[in-house]
Amino acid sequence: MEDITCIGCGVKVQSEDPSGLGYVPAGSLEKETIVCQRCFRLKNYNEVQDVSLTDEDFLKILHGIGDTKGLIVKIVDIFDFNGSWIAGLPRFVGGNPILLVGNKVDILPKSVKHSKVINWMKREAKELGLQPVDVFLISSARGIGVKEVAEAIDHYREDGDVYVVGCTNVGKSTFINRMIKEVTGEGDVITTSHYPGTTLDMIEIPLSDGAALFDTPGIINHHQMAHYVDKKDLKLLSPKKEIKPKVFQLNEEQTLYFGGLARLDYLKGGKTSLVCHVPAEIDIHRTKLENADSLYEKHAGDMLKPPRKDQLDTFPELTAHHFTIKEPKTDVVFSGLGWVTVNEPDKKITAYAPKGVNVTIRKSLI
Ligand code: GDP
Repeated sequence: MEDITCIGCGVKVQSEDPSGLGYVPAGSLEKETIVCQRCFRLKNYNEVQDVSLTDEDFLKILHGIGDTKGLIVKIVDIFDFNGSWIAGLPRFVGGNPILLVGNKVDILPKSVKHSKVINWMKREAKELGLQPVDVFLISSARGIGVKEVAEAIDHYREDGDVYVVGCTNVGKSTFINRMIKEVTGEGDVITTSHYPGTTLDMIEIPLSDGAALFDTPGIINHHQMAHYVDKKDLKLLSPKKEIKPKVFQLNEEQTLYFGGLARLDYLKGGKTSLVCHVPAEIDIHRTKLENADSLYEKHAGDMLKPPRKDQLDTFPELTAHHFTIKEPKTDVVFSGLGWVTVNEPDKKITAYAPKGVNVTIRKSLI
């Protein structure tokens, strides 16, 4: 069968995988002109949809960007910095400048200083091998900081093209939809006819001077906590409101469970208080260290959830990360879930997260 392509973006269409690239419902394959679901939504609702890709396809796109000149806008979820990181991006995109944008600033507690978050992002980025030209904090859902990013994009792109990259769930679609409004003005409908048809796999938003902003498909990162919870529970990890800190007074050898997703053992250092910053929808259970394993065995999937009972077979085992906290005010960060602030130094802690999900420590943001 000859390859059928979308008249919007030129991608090869398929009707098997609704969440994959180039999806067209089988019934629409008969039509004279075929538009993939992604372009259809953009054309009719002025809205960009998320498409998941295999790593290989995504790398092909990145290499493609590396062969051209353009500004890369990399979106990360500040609640899932490690989980939403795209490793090796600078290498793939050649010498192109990268603007780092941290999304979901609206859920940070008010007491968190934005300058501290930006400094932390810079340090982490550097450690992960990225030197961005600039770093911004935004909320694409609330529209906070989006105008500033739009201005920075205009400044750094030097009349060239712009490529927006990010993992699924970082809020890239929400960002792109905001950008469409910033760039074209509200009410202006982007049509697929704007696409030259030669640019595969990317949605193109024309900029004023003939250059364009390209939305690359979001890649699934297998280190994301979100990857391991049921779709129905995703909203638990993606709060819409500011996170309220919860304080726990702990004695040595006590354990906190965060649903069934993570666990923190407080081992040594005398009575202390831990300040938990996780979404309100995730229940925190306290137990004695000696009972912690059996509690999980008995109650993972019911009292300790997510994960759900029927997911337990495929849910990765909780894996231990050992820390000796040396500095006062240190955050133990569970990527994609939140963090626990340890106020006092000289504490021994073991933190557990599903295998593959990162646990790190940092100087407290508060
Ligand atoms: P994409 O997969 O990267 O395209 O992400 P989406 O734009 O579909 O957003 C993923 C999830 O994050 C959705 O539940 C959004 O409502 C949520 N989200 C996106 N931007 C923000 C934001 O600025 N703040 C908050 N709290 N949630 C956001």
